[in-house]
Amino acid sequence: MKLFTVGPVQMYEHTLKERSKPIPYFRTDEFSKVMLETDEMLKELLHTKKDSKSIYLTASGSAAMEAVVCNCFNKKEDKLLVVVGGTFGKRFLDICEIHEIPNEAIILKNNEVLSEEHLLKYNDSGITGVLVNLDETSTGQLYDIDMISSFCKKNNAYLIVDAISTFLCDEYYMDKWGIDATVLSTQKGLCLSPGMAIVTMNKKIVEEKVNKNNFPSLYFNFKDYMSNMERGQTPFTPAVGLVFEIYDMLKTIKKEGLSNRLKKIDNLAKVYRENIVADGISLPEYPLSNAVTPTVLEKPVAMDIFNELKNDHDMFVNPTGGVNADHVLRVAHVGDLNEEDMIEISSKIKELYKKY
Ligand SMILES: *Cc1c(COP(=O)(O)O)cnc(C)c1O
Repeated sequence: MKLFTVGPVQMYEHTLKERSKPIPYFRTDEFSKVMLETDEMLKELLHTKKDSKSIYLTASGSAAMEAVVCNCFNKKEDKLLVVVGGTFGKRFLDICEIHEIPNEAIILKNNEVLSEEHLLKYNDSGITGVLVNLDETSTGQLYDIDMISSFCKKNNAYLIVDAISTFLCDEYYMDKWGIDATVLSTQKGLCLSPGMAIVTMNKKIVEEKVNKNNFPSLYFNFKDYMSNMERGQTPFTPAVGLVFEIYDMLKTIKKEGLSNRLKKIDNLAKVYRENIVADGISLPEYPLSNAVTPTVLEKPVAMDIFNELKNDHDMFVNPTGGVNADHVLRVAHVGDLNEEDMIEISSKIKELYKKY
């Protein structure tokens, strides 16, 4: 089986080995040390200061999206601007609606690029926070972070970034880009098994928002997580085995060098993109993350190709939801994949496309 999907991804051998070890008891100094060291490495890779605080949730990424919104904002004081460029942006909007947090939404049309005009409309309109999925994984569009960041600075709005698929695939500079909170999840850019999500927040949003907010929740109360993390623990039983997977992965990336890891993924994306374009097969024109390439098929055969790749070749690509279901396949470049894999999957897709 080979996964060309963006989460779960084709996992690395060293992760599979780590996963096969017995799970230890975790209320120990030894485990605390692993948590604290993991968090230190994570902050380094996020390019954020040591005084930022991370929340390690045992939950999928969507739980972290909901938790960050509820812990940082409330319906009395806030008005959030949500970038809705696909299914994950829509999820942020649903979270605001469910928790009745006042909001405005920038709803992008199919293939529309997020531009300065979209944002300018909301200058001086009382926006207190912006929610954005930097790589909107459902379309692969990578938004212009400098543009979003300067809107937030001008409007004194907090910037919450879901970096679940862009982190460790594209460059990411949390502090330099003025990002107040970053949302991550283990099964995408981190290339691990699903089950944990992380929110890393800077000192400013912790002090000014989280500590003052009274979000009524037992499991998702960030204050509880922050005080436990002072000693390298979580309030509830974490997915202990996954903590070791994260530790092992961050250590590996540090050894390999972050820029080498990013270069490798950038190269795989290039190789695939150069090879896939053919008669009837094209790429979107908006800016793309290195994580995944939406592959646009003129004939409505995306699901046929998806199924044949899966059933006859044991190769998995991401189908696409919504209006593009018949016309777009998404192929990931993250995980334990190499140039030959990129050439193989692009050739196979072209071959099957011709057949239909
Ligand atoms: C995958 C993903 C999520 C979270 O999905 P879960 O299934 O809840 O882990 C959120 N945002 C983005 C951008 C994603 O790619």
